[in-house]
Amino acid sequence: MVDLQTQYQRIKQDIDAGIEEVIASAAFIKGPKVAAFQSHLEQYTGAKHVIPVGNGTDALQIALMGLGLQAGDEVITPTFTFIATAEVVALLGLTPVVVDVDWQTMNMDIEAIRRAITPRTKAIVPVHLFGQCADMEPLMALAKEKGLYVVEDACQAIGARYTFSNGETRQAGTIGTIGCTSFFPSKNLGCYGDGGAIFTNDDALADRMQAISNHGCRVRYHHDEVGVNSRLDSIQAAVLDAKLPHLDEYIAARQEAAAYYDKAFAGNDKLLIPGRQAHSTHVFHQYTLRVVGADRDKLREGLAARGIPAMIYYPVPLHQQKAYRDPRYRDGDFPVAERLAACVLSLPMHTELDTEQLEYITRSVLELVK
Ligand SMILES: *Cc1c(COP(=O)(O)O)cnc(C)c1O
Repeated sequence: MVDLQTQYQRIKQDIDAGIEEVIASAAFIKGPKVAAFQSHLEQYTGAKHVIPVGNGTDALQIALMGLGLQAGDEVITPTFTFIATAEVVALLGLTPVVVDVDWQTMNMDIEAIRRAITPRTKAIVPVHLFGQCADMEPLMALAKEKGLYVVEDACQAIGARYTFSNGETRQAGTIGTIGCTSFFPSKNLGCYGDGGAIFTNDDALADRMQAISNHGCRVRYHHDEVGVNSRLDSIQAAVLDAKLPHLDEYIAARQEAAAYYDKAFAGNDKLLIPGRQAHSTHVFHQYTLRVVGADRDKLREGLAARGIPAMIYYPVPLHQQKAYRDPRYRDGDFPVAERLAACVLSLPMHTELDTEQLEYITRSVLELVK
């Protein structure tokens, strides 16, 4: 699905030099590499504050802690997403309320959010699934109307750009009250272990989340509130700082591969290519087909037999996960998500796909669905 080795070889010198610098300095935690990466990422994203943390899941958790949400507060998330989005809500004793998604973009359905709001709702967590922004303009308008916080799960969408109707453009993760991203190795900007970051333009929230990420402490050994230990380490920061200048090239390479896939599959009535919306660029963390006229699982097996990995993101929506079963929800309540879970198939997507590989993959898919 991904080729991190070839990508490393291309910038090996920079990455190795950065890692060696950290080891020589022995500043493994909160070192100057972390500060440098933080500032470079602020420049890249346009976020006023970037808070590097241990991983994307922690970023989401710290965001919700920073907002001071209380047990029983409701947080609205899409039911078609990676589990981390709802996991942190549940872990904090908050109540996850799930909503259905749009069939084309696979992102949150704004009208479904509106219907799910109750007097206990405190926040909405839109997920920019697979690398395309959820429809943030109407979502932010709804949040403002109802007085809700918005925490963007931009773990799959770093570098994606959302354009508002007035022409203003902002990056994924910098639109809501808080944005969260992940540097898991396979993400669009991945490190060589775990890593994540929080974005916000709010000074007080930034200060609070920074403290929470470091044991709730601003002055060493003085703890203002209950926090966690979640810091991006300096070695990961060195890797990320070497890769960040290449992020736009990485995104372009993914978009080129996606364009190849699109062209090959357009017009095939058994496969639907990922729906795009004019309001957002798509950075293709995943290229996800909807297999509507063929057996998805047979196609996946056929591809595997030809040496082509393909993955199902995600096979079970949140409301059907054992750990998240909620008596309020029944099978069939979120028909789009359930239909997607049964038909999605993500093809290999990374920065190193060449024409020969793309030709082999697309030819194989088309032969197998014939
Ligand atoms: C990867 C991911 C996360 C979690 O990030 P980690 O760094 O693995 O903790 C959360 N939400 C979504 C949508 C993701 O894709």
